[in-house]
Amino acid sequence: MPFKASILTLYPDMFPGHLGLALAGRAMERGDWALEAVQIRDFAEDRHRSVDDTPSGGGAGMVLRPDVLARAIDSIADDGRPRLLMSPRGRPLTQERVRQLAAGEGVVIVCGRFEGVDQRVIDARQLEEVSIGDYILSGGEPAALTLLDAVVRILPGVMGNQLSGVHESFEGGLLEHPQYTRPQVFEGRAIPEVLTSGNHAAIEKWRHEQAVKLTGERRPDLLPDQPVTK
Ligand code: SAH
Repeated sequence: MPFKASILTLYPDMFPGHLGLALAGRAMERGDWALEAVQIRDFAEDRHRSVDDTPSGGGAGMVLRPDVLARAIDSIADDGRPRLLMSPRGRPLTQERVRQLAAGEGVVIVCGRFEGVDQRVIDARQLEEVSIGDYILSGGEPAALTLLDAVVRILPGVMGNQLSGVHESFEGGLLEHPQYTRPQVFEGRAIPEVLTSGNHAAIEKWRHEQAVKLTGERRPDLLPDQPVTK
């Protein structure tokens, strides 16, 4: 069975979006993965087909109703796929979680809108809240597309050169070394000599040193055994 993503959203037209193009799009055409976007509003039952209401306790904005969202979730067969809710309150997405998701059957993803989602449906349907970073988007759709982009590119068969997935930032716990290609000299700057030496051991050593240096400068939190400064 190919990896299957089911997205619950008020904007199904946002899908597959960029995932219908390039690497992910070609993989979808080949049947390596599939996506269905479910319109949450189809599960509204009142005359106005309302999906949201004012926050209990007062305050600005609107909140997605639990009953409507629960019906939408329940319309998708519970086949054991993880059920995620894109949310700035969630656990930040990591490459490790991306790898776990890619190793599974697929995902069900709820995209929030407005001020968010009624807590009771999060609890009752055991939604795993996932954040893509410490900033606020207007809706969960771009977050879901981002998560799926990261997952789909590492599905078996999707990336032509599987090796290029292994040498990337985060896969080895480090940021990636700098990359170069021709021309040999660009605006007076030459490619580091070692890279054109043909000495593969020296190249590997240089790349590793560069990765450690870069990670130390930019993301010391990723390096093991850093003295904690708080
Ligand atoms: N009032 C909420 C933010 C709502 S933003 C709060 O402060 O927590 C509207 C929707 O956009 C959210 O329900 C969520 O689905 C999505 N969203 C916003 N920022 C996000 C982020 N950083 N990661 C994942 N989803 C996000």
